[in-house]
Amino acid sequence: MCKKNKLTIAQLILENEKVYKTENEIKENILEIWQVMNESVNNGLKSDGILPGGLNVPKRAFKIHQKLKNTHTIDPLAFVDWINLYALAVNEENASGKRVVTAPTNGAAGIIPAVLHYIINFLVKKEDKDKVILNFLLTAGAVGLLYQRNASISGADVGCQGEVGVACSMAAAGMAEFLDASIDQIENAAEIAMEHNLGLTCDPIGGLVQIPCIERNAMAAMKAVNAARMALNEDGKHYVSLDSVIKTMYDTGKDMQNKYKETSKGGLAVNYIDC
Ligand code: SF4
Repeated sequence: MCKKNKLTIAQLILENEKVYKTENEIKENILEIWQVMNESVNNGLKSDGILPGGLNVPKRAFKIHQKLKNTHTIDPLAFVDWINLYALAVNEENASGKRVVTAPTNGAAGIIPAVLHYIINFLVKKEDKDKVILNFLLTAGAVGLLYQRNASISGADVGCQGEVGVACSMAAAGMAEFLDASIDQIENAAEIAMEHNLGLTCDPIGGLVQIPCIERNAMAAMKAVNAARMALNEDGKHYVSLDSVIKTMYDTGKDMQNKYKETSKGGLAVNYIDC
């Protein structure tokens, strides 16, 4: 449809949404969503202590942020720490019962804000921010819609591949859009990101969205950046289409035993040392 109508993915989704709202309303709503995402990152960076629920998991974002802020030597790999940090911040907020944006779920809420927050903080000029945010979220949203319509975005239905996997795929598409990728490269980025999340089980310890969920968001945020960069090095042609990987994720989820689908009856949830 993008090719037929000579539109980018972001433009196509915008046109589609205009059936419901005016262009200004859509843009305002998207920027409002970003505002909440941004707040969840910033609140997470300021919050120290222990996560509620009984596992006594310490929050990490606050201390890592202090360390990164006070490091003045040049570290070419520091971007990894920053992206990880933003994801940890959002997911610690979620684990504390604070406000986050479901993107596409609460357990996977840190991935999209982490990648976009890094872009906004480090890679764009102030005057370009709104445009970048809109294009990123419209493109990521397009990919999310495909998963929602053709598969599932529920850990209880298809395991964590439907939560963290989908968020990773959405963020990869948004990152690729930011990097001026073609439509085919964006589709490739989203496909790569999901391809390497296939089979991901949901096995939260104690039924709390803490271990492995918080760290898993950081891992997936970096994977999204990597998927976008890999896609940018190709011309968009590739073997497995996004539609195929979405179907594969769904089929894999349906074949997955229930103990790996948000029941906390398998995987890490039963294989940790309880002292
Ligand atoms: S492990 Fe389960 S609860 Fe945790 S983020 Fe993944 S799907 Fe959500």
